[in-house]
Amino acid sequence: MFTGHGNFQEYLAKRQLSDTANCSCGEIKNPAHLIYNCINYTRDREIFIMKATLKGYTWPIPIAQLTNKDLHDEFITLITTITTIKENAP
Ligand SMILES: [Zn+2]
Repeated sequence: MFTGHGNFQEYLAKRQLSDTANCSCGEIKNPAHLIYNCINYTRDREIFIMKATLKGYTWPIPIAQLTNKDLHDEFITLITTITTIKENAP
C-alpha cells in the first residue's frame, strides 16, 4: 500500500535511493530531484505526466499525491524506471 509520504520514502529507501549521494547530472540526488528535476529521466517523467494529466492531475503533482491509488500503477512504473535505469547512457 502506498498511502502517504512515509510509505513513499520507505519505498525509495528499500531501493537504495540515497538522500546524500550526488546524481550523475551534478545535482544532489534525492527522491524529489529524481522525480521532478533530473534530466536523466525526462522522457519517463513526461510519460508519467501525460498519464497523470489524463486522470486530471496538474504537474507538478505534490509528493503526497503521487501515492494516490489512482496513480499507483503509473507511479510505480516511473519509480521502477528510475531505480532500474540508474542513469541514461551518455
Ligand atoms: Zn539528476
